[in-house]
Amino acid sequence: MAQRKRLLVVASRNHKKIEEIQAILQDLPFQVISIGELGDFPEVVEDGETFTDNARKKAVQAMTWVKELVVADDSGLEVDALDGAPGVHSARFAAEEGKRSTDEANNAKLLRLLADVPPEKRGAQFRCVIALAVPEGPVHFAEGICRGTIGFEPRGSQGFGYDPLFIVPELGKTFAELGPELKNGISHRARALAGLKQLLEQYQNP
Ligand code: IMP
Repeated sequence: MAQRKRLLVVASRNHKKIEEIQAILQDLPFQVISIGELGDFPEVVEDGETFTDNARKKAVQAMTWVKELVVADDSGLEVDALDGAPGVHSARFAAEEGKRSTDEANNAKLLRLLADVPPEKRGAQFRCVIALAVPEGPVHFAEGICRGTIGFEPRGSQGFGYDPLFIVPELGKTFAELGPELKNGISHRARALAGLKQLLEQYQNP
C-alpha cells in the first residue's frame, strides 16, 4: 500500500525555492506545497536582526495560520571586509528609504564599497537558515554556509542576486557562471536543506 504523505508547507511564493525543496525531499513521504496554494497568507515583515529571527518569524506565523508543518528560510551575503554586511539587509542593500532595490544596484554598491579592498581580503559567505515550525511542538533550525570571494566585476548570466560577483575559489567561477545544477550542489541553501532533511525524518508519519 502506498504510504500516506504528510503535508509540508513552504512559507514562500518563490517557485524556484519550492522546486528545490521538492527535489531534495523527494525520497521522504512529504507533499511539499507553497503557502500560496492554501489562501491569501499576509506578508510577514522581515525586520529581525538575524537570519534565524526572520526564518523563525515567517515559519511560526505561517504555522499558526495553516496548522501544519511549515518551513521558512532566510538568506543573504556576509562580506568579511564589511563586518558581515549586507547580511539580513542583502535584498534591500542599495534601496533608498521605503523603496525596493534591484540586484544590479545592490551589486554596484558592493563593488563600490570594496573598490580599494585587495583580492586576499575579499572573502565572503552566503548563509541560509531554514526554520521548521511544528504544530504544538518546537521550532527547529538548519543552517548552511558557502564560502567564496567577491570579484572585481560581474561575471556570468545565470542565477540571481549577488551570484555574478560571488566566486567559488575551488572552481574559479562565479555562481552566475556555474548554473543551477552545480550551484545547487554546493550552495548555502543546499547545505541547509540537507540539515532540514535530517530534521524531517522524525516527522514523517501523518
Ligand atoms: P531571500 O532569503 O530569498 O529573501 O534572499 C535575500 C537576499 O539575499 C536576496 O535578495 C539576494 O540578494 C541574497 N541572496 C540569497 N541567496 C542568494 C543566492 O543564492 N545568490 C545570490 N544572492 C542571494
